[in-house]
Amino acid sequence: MAVIRDVMPAFDLLQPESAAEAQKLLEQYGDEAWVMAGGLDSFDWLKDRIKKPKVLVDLSGVSELKGVRVTSDGVEIGAMTTLTEIANHPAIQKDYGVLSQAVALVASPQIRNQGTLGGNVSQDVRCWYYRGGWPCYRAGGNICYADTPVGRNREHAIFGANRCVAVHPSDSVPALIVLDAKFVVQTAKGEQIVDAEDYFVGPEDDITRINMLQPGDLLTAIRIPATWAGAKFYFEKVRDRNVWDFPLMNVASAIKLNGNTIQDIRIAVNAVSPRPMRLRAVEDAVRHNSAAVVLDDTGGAGLAEIAGGIAVVGAVPLQFNGYKIPLMRNLVKRAIVGPLESRTGDAIAVTTAGREAVCRS
Ligand SMILES: Cc1cc2nc3c(=O)[nH]c(=O)nc-3n(C[C@H](O)[C@H](O)[C@H](O)COP(=O)(O)OP(=O)(O)OC[C@H]3O[C@@H](n4cnc5c(N)ncnc54)[C@H](O)[C@@H]3O)c2cc1C
Ligand code: SF4
Repeated sequence: MAVIRDVMPAFDLLQPESAAEAQKLLEQYGDEAWVMAGGLDSFDWLKDRIKKPKVLVDLSGVSELKGVRVTSDGVEIGAMTTLTEIANHPAIQKDYGVLSQAVALVASPQIRNQGTLGGNVSQDVRCWYYRGGWPCYRAGGNICYADTPVGRNREHAIFGANRCVAVHPSDSVPALIVLDAKFVVQTAKGEQIVDAEDYFVGPEDDITRINMLQPGDLLTAIRIPATWAGAKFYFEKVRDRNVWDFPLMNVASAIKLNGNTIQDIRIAVNAVSPRPMRLRAVEDAVRHNSAAVVLDDTGGAGLAEIAGGIAVVGAVPLQFNGYKIPLMRNLVKRAIVGPLESRTGDAIAVTTAGREAVCRS
């Protein structure tokens, strides 16, 4: 399908100065309005003339949505805070290092300087058919072009397919899930606070949306409670190129130790399913075991090895993405072993070309 890339469709630009004013405008214009944060995802849609909103609600002048605030129970990050500010913030680096590590691996410095946390978690899927304007299921049609014998689906889902097989592309989200973050949404009916996992919507619930936001809703902040502050963290992103690139897959984990025993663990992956996935079965398999048992992978029988196998139970590859199964198995194993071996409590970044990451266990 030919896409005309000349000028953006005309829209009215509205520039509120407070979150309340922004939410009111969104409520007033409903599904004719488009929220614009840093504009990196928004401008793609507009310049390709695929989305044609009547009004654009530009949040760049809403100062109350910007910045990191240290609270009595963790930190609150305004939705308009840039990824660079989050990556460099001392309190986040000190206590929630998995998040600074994850956002530091998003795209390029230029994109991180402009892109916001609210935009990063709310960005749409990157499936080229959909973004090219093809009338697929997610666009309201009745076909998935990626899930055909010749469809280009190397980057697509191995879990959660339901007509659509696109994956959620964000790097920040798995870190937010393991930190038990809460998303604060302003709606016409008042404030709603949801767990990070519950912000996201799969195609089985609504194939035209990627998150819970309805017309009129505004994500204002993300709160990270102190629950996991200072835990042992791990973040790894696998991408094709070491310059800016979306994840082929990423994984985040947080581990609390009591002596040598894993008192608690959270682990989440993204880019494997239309919704980010928290791996509860893996967490349950590892929790309350000693680090020695988890690290004992001689002969392939260590618990971390088994946990990697548990992670991929039920995976269904498409024509060209079978590599994602061993990749996920190995990433999950590394996300369990890594924090235990380093014992530093810092996030670990290992950015590896996809093929190497699949082979390396
Ligand atoms: C070349 C390129 C490479 C990239 N690589 C990566 C990568 O490696 N990893 C990664 O995670 N991301 C990547 N991204 C995505 C990029 O990080 C996001 O597009 C960006 O974070 C979006 O943020 P933004 O502030 O520009 O939001 P926008 O583009 O303005 O908004 C994105 C979406 O979120 C909605 N939205 C934004 N803020 C709110 C809010 N407060 N309330 C309600 N809705 C809101 C908008 O309506 C829009 O639908 C890449 C993008 C580009 C262009
Ligand atoms: S994977 Fe989803 S977004 Fe891509 S073509 Fe299929 S239905 Fe559309």
